[in-house]
Amino acid sequence: MTTVDLPLLPLGRGTDPNSERGVDCPGDLPPASDPDLVARARAAKEALGDKVFVLGHHYQRDEVIQFADVTGDSFKLARDAAARPDAEYIVFCGVHFMAESADILTTDEQKVILPDLAAGCSMADMARLAQVEDAWDALADAGVVDSVVPITYMNSSADIKAFCGRNGGAVCTSSNADVALEWAFAQKGEDTKVLFFPDQHLGRNTAVLKLGYSLEDCVVWNPLLPNGGLTTQQLQDAKMILWKGHCSVHGRFSADVVDDLRAQDPSIQILVHPECTHEVVTKADLVGSTEFIIKTIEAAEPGTSWAIGTELNLVKRLADAHPDKKIVFLDRTVCYCSTMNRIDLPHLVWALESLVAGTEVNVISVDDTTTAEAQVALQRMLDLPGKTAKD
Ligand code: SF4
Repeated sequence: MTTVDLPLLPLGRGTDPNSERGVDCPGDLPPASDPDLVARARAAKEALGDKVFVLGHHYQRDEVIQFADVTGDSFKLARDAAARPDAEYIVFCGVHFMAESADILTTDEQKVILPDLAAGCSMADMARLAQVEDAWDALADAGVVDSVVPITYMNSSADIKAFCGRNGGAVCTSSNADVALEWAFAQKGEDTKVLFFPDQHLGRNTAVLKLGYSLEDCVVWNPLLPNGGLTTQQLQDAKMILWKGHCSVHGRFSADVVDDLRAQDPSIQILVHPECTHEVVTKADLVGSTEFIIKTIEAAEPGTSWAIGTELNLVKRLADAHPDKKIVFLDRTVCYCSTMNRIDLPHLVWALESLVAGTEVNVISVDDTTTAEAQVALQRMLDLPGKTAKD
């Protein structure tokens, strides 16, 4: 087994091009105190016209979202970008793996730009290709690899999606993970096992709550331990081999806050994302993707009371948009996605004004082989029966 180098660089400092984080973002940024930032962004966007298409992830800051041509989750935005082949530049206000997915799904002529290269995803970083290849070798040593189907969450780097593509696996989103797992378990007969990464919680919640597997059917592969911290027997007995990864935002929500909120307001409904822990998800009233959370609140009756377990920028926007409903955040402390928040107005202005001046900055480009293999895994998701991949 090879030893995996896993540098932990402070955000925005140092260089690790294989990482979702810790990448320098050079650039002569306007100061955040510049009172003309909004006017400058508007002017640059107008000057670029149809050449530029700005995508805004639901978890982005308001100051950035106001300039988005469309908003959505990562997969919706990548598909929105693919539906605009006339746009020369896709400015992706989101994180690195999302910009990679947009590059994979758009034409070779289109350039995808991430305003701050340090906007990575700590969850995606928890499954690095070398680590996944080590795990695959260990599964071969345990004599089970021929029964394993790898499934990666959309929130993973392009090379992880490519790994799934070339090893008979697929990508999934938080809204179609159940269909993806059903597909996977049908691939190799009754002995099939799924290696699911990077988010252990989405994998566990889906396998147990949607497909009826037991917690005992699930084991957790820790990439920092020899053989993942598991015995050969455990690997042979498992149905779900869950990668030890999690979202640093959704992993924070705790079951005791659910209890406290219910004690304070017995009518409150708890609405959470499936990246939350199993304990939180099993205590919630409703569980679903970001789009599901938005639609649920839109459809809710006036006067109803909700506690939402997802990223704070989105929860605040939902509360502002629905003053007729009581909407609170399912955590006692502030819980923004720190990497999403790296895309701020100065970075957006810098990226747009650079394009106006004829300079392409922070272009995210996935190589041809990785693109082709990742497309195989993405296409398997698009071909899934029943539910569509919309999130
Ligand atoms: S919210 Fe979680 S999964 Fe999404 S970008 Fe932030 S760390 Fe990654």
